[in-house]
Amino acid sequence: MYVAKNSRGVLVNLLQIEKSQPLIKETYYCPACRQKLILKAGNVKQRHFAHCAKKTCESFSEGETAEHLAGKALLFNWDQEAQLEVSLASIGQRADVLLPQLALEFQCSPLSTAKLEKRVAGYKKMNLQQWWLTGERLKEGVLRQGSSHFCLFNQTFGVHFWHLNTSKKSIELYTHLLTMSKQKSFKRKIFNFQEQPLSQIFGDRNSVPSIVCSTKKDWQQQKLSVQKKLYYCLPEILQIQQALYRRGSHLLQLPEILFAPSIATPFFGDWLYFLRFHFFQKSLSCSAIDLHEFSFQLTQRFLQTYQLQQKFPLVEPAAISAAFFTESCRLFQAFQQKKTSFKVFSADSL
Ligand SMILES: [Zn+2]
Repeated sequence: MYVAKNSRGVLVNLLQIEKSQPLIKETYYCPACRQKLILKAGNVKQRHFAHCAKKTCESFSEGETAEHLAGKALLFNWDQEAQLEVSLASIGQRADVLLPQLALEFQCSPLSTAKLEKRVAGYKKMNLQQWWLTGERLKEGVLRQGSSHFCLFNQTFGVHFWHLNTSKKSIELYTHLLTMSKQKSFKRKIFNFQEQPLSQIFGDRNSVPSIVCSTKKDWQQQKLSVQKKLYYCLPEILQIQQALYRRGSHLLQLPEILFAPSIATPFFGDWLYFLRFHFFQKSLSCSAIDLHEFSFQLTQRFLQTYQLQQKFPLVEPAAISAAFFTESCRLFQAFQQKKTSFKVFSADSL
């Protein structure tokens, strides 16, 4: 940590004191738990404070790695409006960096779902928007192992997350994760140090790299991969097949357009085809309002059964249902019009 209270109760921010300038010998205290701090001034990490006794301070669950220290300094120096390590007494939390109405968290190590949810709820209670930026290790976790803890979701970016690159001094936005149901597929946009204020980057809606368009050929390919899974009797695909069978259908009998990639593929996987089949069937027989309600219930039930909230704690389940509904309506329309291509991200959602 960089911010401490001195014995007179005045906040001292190490980043605002010239490095060459030696600190006055005095006692420093943690602004949150009021315990004594020690000043660490080695060669590897930036000059910082640390608690004498570890793991006793509620506000500091994040171990202070060199990356975490560097990241906080980077964010603080990025923006004139940024405040460093702000204690929010009413929720017992401390934001790494605070902008007006926006709390920034730079997360370098994994965090349990329970802890993450608690911090998310805290900021919500204060009506603060929150911006979670991942460090190197967590970024690799998402891209290589498909971990999804810090992923967000909206209809513009699909599944996406933010990364703070401390060595390149940039913020990276990874979007459209796994949309084409291929592992490791994503798009990336880079924001360089101080090119834009932080709040502008956070609110950036002009950065959609491109719309993902699929054609009949892609759908056939996807169908073929499902056929292979059936051939090898993969347990999940057999379950889906059984569910379809009970409704008088078969995976390989489904219209090809049902295999078009989806904005919601990361949530539904191959169950997407079953959900779409259900949706198409219902579309033929009920009103728009009923269809909306049906679609909402169908997808929410699915998300609960598979405990998707555990996997994506930062994603609102209702947003997934809404995206599924919008997309499925357009897909059904394309099906009726016998279209041979389909855009995953509709123009009006940009
Ligand atoms: Zn403390």
